[in-house]
Amino acid sequence: MCTVGGPMADIKMKKLKTKKYRCLDCDNEFKGIGRRVVCPSCQSDNVEEV
Ligand SMILES: [Zn+2]
Repeated sequence: MCTVGGPMADIKMKKLKTKKYRCLDCDNEFKGIGRRVVCPSCQSDNVEEV
């Protein structure tokens, strides 16, 4: 009775898989999502996965 809900809403709130990256230009560490990750600090795409 009370377990009926919108499953779509919950799935949307789920964490996307984030990965940690380090910028090779400014040594900034950050989390990125997706294939094209750029450094939030210097906008460089010269990053590596940590
Ligand atoms: Zn950077």
